[in-house]
Amino acid sequence: MIVLKFGGTSLADAPHIRTIAKIVRNTEDDRPVLVVSAHAGVTDLLESLANRALSEKIGIADVRDIHVGILRDLDLPEDLVDDLFEELASILTGIHLVCELTNRTRDYILSFGERLSSRIVAAAFRSFGIPARAIAAWDLGLVTDSAFGSARPQDECYSRIRRSLKQVKELPVVTGFIAKDRDGNITTLGRSGSDFTASLVGAAVGAREIQIWTDVDGVMSADPRIVPNARSLPRLSFNEMSELAYYGARVIHPATMVPAVLNRIPVRVLNTNSPKHPGTVILDDPTPGAPPISSIAYRRQQTLINVVSTRMLLQHGFMANLFEVFGRHEVVVDMISTSEVSVSITTDSDQRLDPVLRELSEFADVTVERDKAIICLVGDGIRTTGDVVARIFATSRNAGVTARMISMGASRINVSFLVADEDVEKAVQALHEEFF
Ligand code: ADP
Ligand code: ASP
Ligand code: MG
Repeated sequence: MIVLKFGGTSLADAPHIRTIAKIVRNTEDDRPVLVVSAHAGVTDLLESLANRALSEKIGIADVRDIHVGILRDLDLPEDLVDDLFEELASILTGIHLVCELTNRTRDYILSFGERLSSRIVAAAFRSFGIPARAIAAWDLGLVTDSAFGSARPQDECYSRIRRSLKQVKELPVVTGFIAKDRDGNITTLGRSGSDFTASLVGAAVGAREIQIWTDVDGVMSADPRIVPNARSLPRLSFNEMSELAYYGARVIHPATMVPAVLNRIPVRVLNTNSPKHPGTVILDDPTPGAPPISSIAYRRQQTLINVVSTRMLLQHGFMANLFEVFGRHEVVVDMISTSEVSVSITTDSDQRLDPVLRELSEFADVTVERDKAIICLVGDGIRTTGDVVARIFATSRNAGVTARMISMGASRINVSFLVADEDVEKAVQALHEEFF
């Protein structure tokens, strides 16, 4: 079997949906399973409606217009998904009446994007003569914990998904991004989570390959939005892709690689707008003879916390106490560096930081610096190439960018450093020029 995941831009309009039908037809011998995102822009729109509903009476005309426009262009009945529009309108009214938006309700609202798109895509495929069936991932058995907004799958989901898909005779068009917890509440896997759904389904059915269809020629040497001459990479290792995804290469959701790695399933990133391009294949083993750096990623909106304690730093248990505070408040810590009297920590969970800072201030001097970004260079070749680190910092210095904190992972396939957010473009462009 083979899993094909189509992102929002690949489903943007009727011509794109006709294109993906052709792509899927070419894989018919491989028993394809489709995983779909919401149509382009819909999840952002739903998120903003949910927030606005707190203070205004909100209608769903914009959501309706996007979907009815696509239905019309596909010659499908314009009332095909009216039941979902009604359900969405009632929940938005509910938020307005009670003036409350919980994370659980937000996930419920965001789920409409994929529920709508899967039904529209399946109906379109049937109209093209491909027997297809829209399936909500929870009906296949995708069960998660109850961490709304970033839910994680439960172990039993793999066998359930495998069993359920065996019963489906038509082409399954599965909702990405959404699931249910054990109590039946709708959850989401985090923004861009459809990639993760695709790899979960791929692992469940033992797919031969997981294909992520998007709007660029595979994984590139840097984000093409800030480096226009970035190149497509023919091949990456699982480790390289995991690091890149974690450090912000938006093309794949960071959790995607986990089921693929555990089951050694190749992941291929392909371009819906240019289906003949070979894209990028991500495999278990390092690329032989690869250049030192494969790609440059960045993550914005980082906050740096400096904890200074002249009395306590060298005492045993200090670090444990420090990280216990972060852990208890569910603040994810990213880069860490220590000196004799201080510990510097970065995080992107700025909104949850206040209670952490209050508690830390009881036993240390704490300062906070906002508007930082992490730049991360990834490559299996870093390990074996002597001067990479020197070149990175000489290049940054020449570009007028100061590195505030530096770290090299134990795997020695990444070098990351913290810069001022306003320096991201300048730094990434200069480093790309140097290494590519
Ligand atoms: P989809 O809707 O298909 O899931 P996304 O917008 O989530 O698409 O991801 C694709 C985008 O990721 C590209 O358009 C590109 O701007 C961005 N991107 C960031 N870093 C990279 C990279 N290293 N390689 C490819 N794309 C990248
Ligand atoms: N539709 C969701 C989002 O926009 C999930 C996805 O596209 O992967 O984040
Ligand atoms: Mg995406």
